Amino acid sequence: MISLERIKQDKYEIVIGIETHVELLTKTKIFCNCSTQFGGKPNSQCCPICTGMPGALPMLNEKVLEKAIKLAIALNCKVSNISRFDRKNYSYPDLPKSYQISQLYMPIGRNGYLEINNINKNRIGIHEIHMEEDAGKLIHEDVNTLIDYNRAGVPLIEIVSEPDISSSKEAVEYLEQLRYLLIDLGISDCKMQEGSFRADINLSVREIESEKLGIRTEMKNLNSFKAVEDAIEYESNRQIAVIENGGSIIQETRRWDDNLKKSISMRVKEESNDYRYFPDPDLPPIIISETFINNIESNLPELRDEKINRYCNTWGIPLCEAEIIVSEKNLAKLFEETVKITNMAKEVSNWIIMDTMRVLKDKKIHINDIKLRPENLAKLIIMIKDGKINSTIAKEVFDAIFDTNLDPVVYVKENDLIIVENKEILREKINAIIEENPQSVEDYKNGKKKVITYLIGKTMKVMAGQADPKKTSEIIKEILEQL
Ligand SMILES: [Zn+2]
Repeated sequence: MISLERIKQDKYEIVIGIETHVELLTKTKIFCNCSTQFGGKPNSQCCPICTGMPGALPMLNEKVLEKAIKLAIALNCKVSNISRFDRKNYSYPDLPKSYQISQLYMPIGRNGYLEINNINKNRIGIHEIHMEEDAGKLIHEDVNTLIDYNRAGVPLIEIVSEPDISSSKEAVEYLEQLRYLLIDLGISDCKMQEGSFRADINLSVREIESEKLGIRTEMKNLNSFKAVEDAIEYESNRQIAVIENGGSIIQETRRWDDNLKKSISMRVKEESNDYRYFPDPDLPPIIISETFINNIESNLPELRDEKINRYCNTWGIPLCEAEIIVSEKNLAKLFEETVKITNMAKEVSNWIIMDTMRVLKDKKIHINDIKLRPENLAKLIIMIKDGKINSTIAKEVFDAIFDTNLDPVVYVKENDLIIVENKEILREKINAIIEENPQSVEDYKNGKKKVITYLIGKTMKVMAGQADPKKTSEIIKEILEQL
């Protein structure tokens, strides 16, 4: 019997498009002044506008528009010069107005792309991005269903990809890359668990080289990258099995059950005309000038890919290391600021890739809680370069200062960690000084202990203050005793 996996590989291709909803990091909602803070007491953050009271008039939050344009530019979209909101009509208790304000006819951005692989430059088309409001949240308790409208009116951006994705791996790469971008741009915190980054997967299968697309299903409720991967594997296998058994796929919405690891039919998929979209008469069209767009474009922060290129090309960091460093804002910051002080990018990268990651794992410290300051990592690296400590001791010092943020120079001194070679250098210098001062030996033998202070002073001068006074004193006594 030929396995399903084999049939899948040889005969079918998977066609995936992803709709991603992200909650924006704005202080207030999209059409009113209510707070967007997550986790507030139910129904404590709402007003007549976001609960859809008759006669309440919405007004667009300019920050939402700015963030949407920022994203449209970063996703290489054509930013619309005129954009407009539409009403998407449906009746459900989480939506008190019985319509959601969204964009269908004139979205804020169209025809962009996202590069998901630095090496192959694989581009996933972006069909459009649009702004909309989130709905409230239903809370199901035994026999009752409660409603919390705090989320109603929280600004969302929906990013609709073209059906350019052909595997679960590619889908995860796309979402990861999109997530980095949204965080870099300060658009969203993208917490999948809190629902601020949600992906719906549209998936169909077709025989390889077939012109026609297969019938697609939409999967919702994917709250981790792992769930996305599992859901795509499951659903593509399910569809192929249905077709191989002579059945046909129904266009429907399916819910992913992460515990059962399967998708379950929810409802027959609606077409957009089922929603009777029409322009919202309460909100005038938005006219966006080129100056406004250019101004946002010129203030875009450095994005992940640009950062990776800079690390590789300017500092000679290997691509795989650069990718790890830029994956977390805190690591990138520690890296860049330490390089600024030391000008030793390769060494700094090693300390971050090897030791920082190791200690974070060993001590179970979250990347956001790194206390180590760039100036202290720099001091450590410079001590190794200057031959004051060797790499074994450096690791010991690194582990000790990592979560205490002690000054490594002080730590090395206090713990007597200056390398042995230096002790010997010190002994040599002191021997030479004593040879040059035979009188001091005589004085010492005659009980004039004060001569030690005199010899310490001489040594300090020769060592340009680099010697440890306590250790110098011990060595001097040792030598004098043996003479
Ligand atoms: Zn409100």
